[in-house]
Amino acid sequence: MDIEKVKLELKKKVEKNINKYYAVDFLKQRGFERKTCKKCGARFWTKDPEREFCGEPDCVGGYSFIGKPVGKRLEYIESWNKFSEMFKSLGYTPIKRYPVVARWRDDTDFVQASIYDFQPHVVSGEVEPPANPLVVPQYCLRFNDIDNVGITGRHKTGFVMVGQHAFLPPKDFDQNLFLSHIHKWLTVGMKIPEEEISYIEKQWYGGGNLGVCMEAFVRGLEIENQVYMIYKVSDAGYEELPIRVLDMGMGLGRTVWVTQGSATQYESDYPDVIKKLFEKTGLELSDMFRDFMPFAGELNVEENKDIEKSWQKIAEKLSVSKEELKKEVMPLAALFSVADHSQSLLVALSDGMLPSNVGGGYNLRVIARRAMSFIDKYGWPFSLQEVAEWHAAYLRPLFPELNENIDDVMKILDIEKKKYRNARQRTKKMVVKILKKKRNISADELRLLYESYGITPELIREVAENTLNVNVSLPENFYALITRERPERKREVEKEFDLKGIAETEKLYYEDDVKEFDAEVLKEWEEKGKHYVVLDRTAFYPLGGGQASDKGKLDGAHVVAVIKQGNIVIHETDRKLGKKQVHGVIDWERRLQLTRQHTGAHILNGAAREILGNHIWQAGAEKNYEKARLDITHYEIPTAEEISRIEKLANEVIRKAIPIERRFMPRTEAEQKYGFRLYQGGAVPGKMIRVVNIKGFDVEACGGTHFSNTKYVEEIKIWKVKKIQDGVIRIEFSAGKEMIAKLMKRMKEEKDKEKAAWLKRVELLIAEKEMLTGKKERIDVEGKDLDSIIKIWKQLSKELEKEKKRKASELSEETVQIIDVADMKLMQEIARKVAKKKAYCVVLAPGQVIGVDNKSGKPVKEAVEKAAEIMGGKAGGKGNEWKGGGPEKNKYKEAFNQVRKILGE
Ligand SMILES: [Zn+2]
Ligand SMILES: [Zn+2]
Repeated sequence: MDIEKVKLELKKKVEKNINKYYAVDFLKQRGFERKTCKKCGARFWTKDPEREFCGEPDCVGGYSFIGKPVGKRLEYIESWNKFSEMFKSLGYTPIKRYPVVARWRDDTDFVQASIYDFQPHVVSGEVEPPANPLVVPQYCLRFNDIDNVGITGRHKTGFVMVGQHAFLPPKDFDQNLFLSHIHKWLTVGMKIPEEEISYIEKQWYGGGNLGVCMEAFVRGLEIENQVYMIYKVSDAGYEELPIRVLDMGMGLGRTVWVTQGSATQYESDYPDVIKKLFEKTGLELSDMFRDFMPFAGELNVEENKDIEKSWQKIAEKLSVSKEELKKEVMPLAALFSVADHSQSLLVALSDGMLPSNVGGGYNLRVIARRAMSFIDKYGWPFSLQEVAEWHAAYLRPLFPELNENIDDVMKILDIEKKKYRNARQRTKKMVVKILKKKRNISADELRLLYESYGITPELIREVAENTLNVNVSLPENFYALITRERPERKREVEKEFDLKGIAETEKLYYEDDVKEFDAEVLKEWEEKGKHYVVLDRTAFYPLGGGQASDKGKLDGAHVVAVIKQGNIVIHETDRKLGKKQVHGVIDWERRLQLTRQHTGAHILNGAAREILGNHIWQAGAEKNYEKARLDITHYEIPTAEEISRIEKLANEVIRKAIPIERRFMPRTEAEQKYGFRLYQGGAVPGKMIRVVNIKGFDVEACGGTHFSNTKYVEEIKIWKVKKIQDGVIRIEFSAGKEMIAKLMKRMKEEKDKEKAAWLKRVELLIAEKEMLTGKKERIDVEGKDLDSIIKIWKQLSKELEKEKKRKASELSEETVQIIDVADMKLMQEIARKVAKKKAYCVVLAPGQVIGVDNKSGKPVKEAVEKAAEIMGGKAGGKGNEWKGGGPEKNKYKEAFNQVRKILGE
């Protein structure tokens, strides 16, 4: 269904009965009055009898609080403390922020608003919220405005959104009450006079939900937006949500900025960091910059098509040249960008995302490089790491967890810096070369340069100005061009079977030791030559969670594959059952081995995190019968020493015989108890999630089969570690003593086989060389290992090549000749050499012949063909060269005589 149509429909509905949809009673009670904006036509509420405009900056002529703060001055962290205290007294529970990396969702990489914490399961009414009602200081990341960061005074990539949320049945949902709470915060907490506040009535749509909202503005600044979600929108249309959801979002920084009235929001958001940055760089807010700030919003690249023209206009208003203005503004804008980017990186890296070339990590790399290129360009005496550390220290009372992972974050940023430096070194020359040819680089070329080589526009500008002394024009919205929203992930549409009316399968595979079972056949069918069976209960584990499916028997039929569709397990059998009741037998040896591999993967994941750092997450896994693999997030290939420590720790955990708890838990309870590390394998569906807890070591939400104790894994052996993509490392391993022994034996056998093959090759070379030189070779290969043997082979090949060349130069210059070595390369060398001098040449050897004719006029081709025929074979060729041969090798002397005859010699 068309969302615009739905919105319009809702709008009509609202228009017919506006007082039902907005918190009218409370506002009336406070003496507010509903008005219509004279400029934009929006309906809004105000207590100021004089007010004619809604409060949007476009309608009221921009911000009017800069230099003229309103309310009681609040500091950043103080504001949250006061807010949460007040809301606690109002019956809300303040909760800790969720990680900014949204592991519990499969549709987004980062949290972009506080409501993201509760989507999809809480908002849909399926899962209980952690508290109700609640407030949360949620860190959010948005990468759609990078070009504006620093310039406009307010755009940021990372910020804290204060959320006020409630999830209630419609009858208990009291909009007037919720609005009265936020109104109390604005007027009592922030001490903003009621006359200063205007509430605008709007509609709201997001993430498949639709509702109405009330936005609060103070002096042109939007402070908060209180949304009341009512509908769920889908292709089928819209329907009322089973619960009503309160979604109030308020930028924490906005509450501070408006009460401080600073020139930019960066100063009020990061007071300590900005102070340090000013001290270190000697920069400060000049009068020109302060005069510029009220107009800075006009440089919003999202809304402005001709930025240069706007610069010109603003400069004229300030009576300076455009160049002077830019010279004043750009370094400060760069400094504010470094302040913003370093904080975003701190939180994202601390929460477990790595910069990379793919996915959400790509956007982190973009801002890291942008910040580093500013630091380089201006030669500032601090690093990105230092600034991140200052943020961590300042935010300690609000987000103490940022200090726990700080060493990890420093290391990651350090590696990122090295990668950036390397890219710069490699590419500086490339930029010079491009700029020598032309002064304009198209947006597409820039994008390519950035994505292939990490060349930022800042670097291009720097090289242009410093090395070539030219100015280049680059697009102002460059970062908007290169950052990507993650494309809607297409769910894999697997073949769906028609299972209407069939009950959920009872799953026996979560109980230990169910090797056999009896079940009733609910459905049996055949499709494209395959047989499928659905039972009322089963112990067959279906493919899932990276674990291969069980095998075994259903009566006389072999179970070849097992899959899950929704909550129904489907068995594929090799023949028709044709029965009502069946007896199932699991291939228990296979199941045990798969369980070893799977439990081993959990242990290995925990060990990797212990050894490599808290940024380690599972990025994928596959557990097959013989070998398994675990993909982890890490910025480089671990050293041999680290790998051996991981293996050692994993085996220690096995030896310690740690109990493994496996149970289903309500989602929210599990999240609160174990944190979001649970979601190692990504988002998991459902109200209840299965928690696999290796006590004190690793906890994951996982639906696979696991042992009750680590000791049953017996042993873990890592076979191979490699990088499979930027930021992702693959560990190939096996678990189980017998399996490891079997594979090691096989590997040894394979190695022995390989060695034998190489020995054979060496022997052949030795024989050939002896034939060529007539001397006995003395090469000792006895007892040598494979690598040494390959080395000998390489050496011999080289020597032989040389020997052939030497031999060719030594041989006579006869136009028809015979040699003992049947080596086509050598024969060719001789034939060509002689033909160069004497116009033609035919060389014969046991079983082989070649002829070259440089317009001699002689029947060389016929001679070669005849020779091959005599040896029982054929000849062919093109141009001036023919070769051939046959199985009757020793007839080559007879052929030699015949050739001479044909050529008249
Ligand atoms: Zn308006
Ligand atoms: Zn598992």
